[in-house]
Amino acid sequence: MNLHPKSVTFDLDEHWSQVQGLLRTELDDTAYRTWLAPLDLVGLEGDRVLLSVPTRFLRDWVAAHYADRIRALWRCVNPRVCGVALTVRPAPSSRASAPAAVVASPVLGPVPLPCEAAPQPLDGDIGAPLDPRFTFSNFVVGKSNNLAFAAARRVAELDAPPFNPLFLYGPVGLGKTHLMHAIAWHIRHDNPRRKVVYLSAEKFMYQFIKALRFKDTMSFKELFRSADVLMVDDVQFIGGKESTQEEFFHTFNALADRGRQIVISSDRSPPELAGLEERIRSRLGWGLVADIRPTTYELRLGILQCKAREFAREAKVPDNVLAFLAHRITSNVRELEGALNRVVAQAILVGRAITLEMAQDVLRDLLRAHERRVTIEDIQKLVAEHYRIRIADMHSARRARAVARPRQVAMYLAKQLTPRSLPEIGRKFGGRDHTTVMHAIRKIDELRSTDPVLSEDIEALRRLLQG
Ligand code: ADP
Ligand code: MG
Repeated sequence: MNLHPKSVTFDLDEHWSQVQGLLRTELDDTAYRTWLAPLDLVGLEGDRVLLSVPTRFLRDWVAAHYADRIRALWRCVNPRVCGVALTVRPAPSSRASAPAAVVASPVLGPVPLPCEAAPQPLDGDIGAPLDPRFTFSNFVVGKSNNLAFAAARRVAELDAPPFNPLFLYGPVGLGKTHLMHAIAWHIRHDNPRRKVVYLSAEKFMYQFIKALRFKDTMSFKELFRSADVLMVDDVQFIGGKESTQEEFFHTFNALADRGRQIVISSDRSPPELAGLEERIRSRLGWGLVADIRPTTYELRLGILQCKAREFAREAKVPDNVLAFLAHRITSNVRELEGALNRVVAQAILVGRAITLEMAQDVLRDLLRAHERRVTIEDIQKLVAEHYRIRIADMHSARRARAVARPRQVAMYLAKQLTPRSLPEIGRKFGGRDHTTVMHAIRKIDELRSTDPVLSEDIEALRRLLQG
């Protein structure tokens, strides 16, 4: 049966009311009014329903917290709906003149709420969707990520690969995916004829296995090999699966031979990629290997300031709250953003001004998790590893400088990072006297003011210990 367009629209409005009704019964009143009441139905885009929200913050919040539920309810009332996307509508003044507010600019484009059962034809789009927030202009650069950032920019700006592959690696939540998406957005914008394919290593494997099953590996190969820029995210997940490794390697070589750009990300460096064949590992290290290191305080603060500006319409976040978060949430940027989001959300939800006390209160559980208790044993182990001495030397009577100095560093950190008294610390270091501990602390304090290398070592150890 062919539906008249009008009746489709009519149905859609009707369905939207039903979805809203269901959401209202499921959520408490304040939550509904704060987060979901501001949503408007825009229309249908393919098999996706497009909803609009007044602000970017609201869009991200709804996407993160209510996406699954909204999609599930839509599918209940209308099984043809496969996904839901959110877009930010312009401020009311410009709204009347620009009703078609769904232009997909990298910053304000709709955020797709991915559809778990979406059919993914092999001959369709092989890549994964790009996050509109992940652009170069939204990336804050600091000491720990400037190499990766500069390299990503060059790859995005030049037509021929400046290095191949660009291999980005670093711990989770520090911006690898962000940089890859930024490269893709940049090229799409400046050079739309270049074909950019971005996908996760897992999706690459999935596509390949599917092609095998349908005996369609030829078109699989052609698809990937037609890319001008191929980006494979989280390549550590490719380890172990031999046939996929093989295919990945061939695809990689075929592209590199034709002068196409390849960008890879991983949580570890090429030599550390266990489970990957040696030839692949070494091949991955041929281009530029750029690491992203843990954030510094300055970078964390910079990122928070940048985010807080985005939220300026919703809530004002005082500087001391930003400094507090940058100081306390050190694990990764994702968690840092999450913490700020929670504080802002709380402020909007209960109409409470953001203060330091309020932030501490909202983030109680998170902060507690970050207050990892450091033990003297942890300190001894790490310091011994760092200076390449045996843990036993922390307790031994040896006085050679090579072991005595690290031992003093460990005592110094024990005093700084644990609530232990001097005699208690002494006992843990082979039954030394508390005056020995005191002497060690004075000595290190003194050296720190003249020896920047030692000072940096101690800071690095402290950061590692406090995680
Ligand atoms: P990874 O892929 O390394 O695990 P992501 O790229 O997914 O990490 O980053 C996690 C979150 O942190 C994202 O929301 C991203 O935008 C943000 N982020 C990470 N680094 C930065 C940065 N330097 N500036 C701004 N946002 C960042
Ligand atoms: Mg990632």
